[in-house]
Amino acid sequence: METLMSNRIASEKAIELEDKYGAHNYHPLPVVLERGEGVFVWDVNGKQYFDFLSAYSAVNQGHCHPKIVAAMIEQAQKLTLTSRAFYNDCLGEYEQFVTSYFCFDKVLPMNTGAEGVETALKLARKWAYEVKGVASNEAKIIVCKNNFHGRTISIVSASSDPDAKNNFGPFTPGIISVEYNNVDALTEALKDKTVAGFLIEPIQGEAGVVVPDEGYLKKCYDLCKQNNVLFIADEIQSGLGRTGKRLACDHENVHPDILILGKALSGGTYPVSAVLANNEIMLCIKPGQHGSTYGGNPIACKVSVAALSVLRDEELSENSERLGKILLKELNSIQAENPELIKLVRGKGLFCAMIINERNGKSAWEVCLELMNDGLLAKPTHGDIIRFAPPLIITEQQLMECVSIIRKVITKF
Ligand code: PLP
Repeated sequence: METLMSNRIASEKAIELEDKYGAHNYHPLPVVLERGEGVFVWDVNGKQYFDFLSAYSAVNQGHCHPKIVAAMIEQAQKLTLTSRAFYNDCLGEYEQFVTSYFCFDKVLPMNTGAEGVETALKLARKWAYEVKGVASNEAKIIVCKNNFHGRTISIVSASSDPDAKNNFGPFTPGIISVEYNNVDALTEALKDKTVAGFLIEPIQGEAGVVVPDEGYLKKCYDLCKQNNVLFIADEIQSGLGRTGKRLACDHENVHPDILILGKALSGGTYPVSAVLANNEIMLCIKPGQHGSTYGGNPIACKVSVAALSVLRDEELSENSERLGKILLKELNSIQAENPELIKLVRGKGLFCAMIINERNGKSAWEVCLELMNDGLLAKPTHGDIIRFAPPLIITEQQLMECVSIIRKVITKF
């Protein structure tokens, strides 16, 4: 009884401290987590939950994967950071590993996803001036409406979300925004001969797991080729097994000119991002022109090799593809049973979303609170959408347990 009480106080205290001393730039569910293992996390009261967000797909390999954690600890006891002022004995090995894993000549290591996107934008501009021959300061980047690529000034300049943009101007120029999943819109925008690159999420994650029509990516890629424009894939959320393939672009056999990775590149242990490209593009950047103190640090390199090895050795893309079909089928049947509450479900691999019909008076937030009470953590996006993205190590039995929690909660509503 006493322990229960003190746990409740611990939980309230943690929320109160964040509220009082932290910026209010997030709106978390009221659950205070203290431990994670595999598909599970536990709160300070010892209550167990299925994690159906996976830290926005950073924890694809499951929480605290022993091989990734071991790689991290081993390197942390040896050498943590050299900066790029000197060579270290981990970076070259990692660069060879990651470039052969994704079939590119070169990689530029960074830390966060947003830094990866910024790097890709800078690379595309530099390539446009130095290889394509665009006049100085004229280069443009085409982006898609409802994108999410991060939070820096240039990236929010490319956003169409008022929350991301309002009162953050003036914005970075040189951005053209086109409708997602609309080939004609891209064709039209590509008439501008100053375009350097087309930046796209192969599946829009934060927009609510928006899956474009089959063939869209390939058509966009071909159009980019015809117009000497770089096809830049932001696979920070959609990549690394999440959609049932190594990359979401693999569904259409598209090999991007620039590939941006983050999140699960470290299996949720460390901020690691990477930008991959071939020599013609990557060698446009010379010493001193771009970088980051922590980018390519020894811990990041070891963790990333371990995270990618786990993905391959444990066949997580294959598991995501197989179980994703089951999840989508089950969600579709829950939708058919509750059409007044659920408008639509969609997804690819273990990357699914449910759109709540708010006319029913229930919000995605309320559904998520109820799921939380029943032991499943998911987060609403845009008020009416719930994303379901469990760690890719989930078993069929665990998945079916989660499906029954979701069905029970939806039926209760
Ligand atoms: N790009 C995509 C597609 C994302 O989903 C995110 C984060 O959710 C980012 C970029 C930004 O990554 P980070 O939050 O690590 O800066």
